[in-house]
Amino acid sequence: MDLLNLIKDAGVIGAGGAGFPTHAKLTSKAEYLLLNGAECEPLLRVDQQLMKLFPDEIIRGMEAAGRYIEARKAILGIKGKHKEVIVLLRERIAALGLSNYMEVMELRDIYPAGDEQVLVHELTQRIVPEASIPLKVGCVVINTETALNICNAMAGNPVTETYITIAGDIPQRMTVKVPVGISIRDVIEQCGVQDIADYAIIDGGPMMGSVMNDVEGYVTKKSKGYVLLKKDHFLIRKKSVSLNRARIIGKTACEQCRMCTDLCPRYLLGHNMQPHKVMRALSYNLDDVKEQQIAQLCCECNACELFSCPANLHPKSVNILYKQKLAEQGIRYQPIQIDFQARSARDHRLIPSKRLVIKIGLTAFDKPAPMKQVEFRPEYIQIALRQHIGAPATPVVGIGDQVKAGQLIGKIPDNSLGATVHSSLDGTVIEIKDNSIVIKVGSYV
Ligand code: SF4
Ligand code: SF4
Repeated sequence: MDLLNLIKDAGVIGAGGAGFPTHAKLTSKAEYLLLNGAECEPLLRVDQQLMKLFPDEIIRGMEAAGRYIEARKAILGIKGKHKEVIVLLRERIAALGLSNYMEVMELRDIYPAGDEQVLVHELTQRIVPEASIPLKVGCVVINTETALNICNAMAGNPVTETYITIAGDIPQRMTVKVPVGISIRDVIEQCGVQDIADYAIIDGGPMMGSVMNDVEGYVTKKSKGYVLLKKDHFLIRKKSVSLNRARIIGKTACEQCRMCTDLCPRYLLGHNMQPHKVMRALSYNLDDVKEQQIAQLCCECNACELFSCPANLHPKSVNILYKQKLAEQGIRYQPIQIDFQARSARDHRLIPSKRLVIKIGLTAFDKPAPMKQVEFRPEYIQIALRQHIGAPATPVVGIGDQVKAGQLIGKIPDNSLGATVHSSLDGTVIEIKDNSIVIKVGSYV
């Protein structure tokens, strides 16, 4: 079977991002295969540890993807501060005889180094055009865990596990491997907190993750981390502001200093993303939504809301509001430029990760979260049929069916973009919902 079909059958998707199906991403040829090992979200510690634990597998997965798309070079981007891992990766690339094809490049410790478009520029000096994708400038980007999953797929192993950092204001920070479909509560209980009700939990990194309403959800292939903070922590208060409240505050308080624009990573790449203009439209009640198309250029990195704005306003949320209005009216941003140059001030306006961590009140929690072996024994797992971009998987099992770990339980609908899903543990299917399959664990005979 060729690589693409192995990846497709294994249900590999972008681990950590939006979950774009990897087999679909690798259908195009490109000059560079880039591995995103930036892990720029504060407190998350997955990628840096995976590269240390599984260097050969990640290198092999990356090489296979690169050769498949006929890339002339594969570049692994990792922050220069991870010196030990960088030495190891370079040693293993040489030992595997790949020095002519693969290179490790050191990234600056900035936020958001892992934004796909920032990464492309940092590694290749190219700029992805507005509202476009890296392929447009000859690059395909995959994530560290995705490269590991590609290597596993080559051995016939589907994606049934994911790695998660549990971090924040807790006694035991750690990174664990968990079965996909396990309850988030089961994962969080590992961190030593007596009463979870005292905490608010961010699903994902502190910058782009959102505050969860409850812990009754289930882990997906994209889950990367849970950050637990006291409910009165600055980040929780800030992230809990509703879009409507953000609109009302922004309307009255924006002083048009344009710091949000001057430090916006997309603006600094030469794009026309200028959040202060969107804020101005809000202040002046400008109803012509079409004029606010630039809001669609926002990658929602949250730098403007959590770092740049001196008035503590919510430009990202206002962008989201306008994005919603534009989508309702079916309006899509039309670029007026083809070629882009990074702004001359870019190098002086990058956001140092250390300063960001101080600004968002996480210094005390910016500690290691070492990989820990935990054997999870859940009673049930709930496997989402849509953990990815595209159509939900179609169940191929019925209620009462016994399934084994790694068994296909949902296939890609015909002629659709999507990803397969597999059971992560042995058990019996007890319920098939619109969006998930529930399995009682352990009753397979
Ligand atoms: S940084 Fe804040 S106050 Fe300044 S223009 Fe942007 S939203 Fe307005
Ligand atoms: S969230 Fe703010 S800083 Fe980030 S891309 Fe959007 S406007 Fe720019």
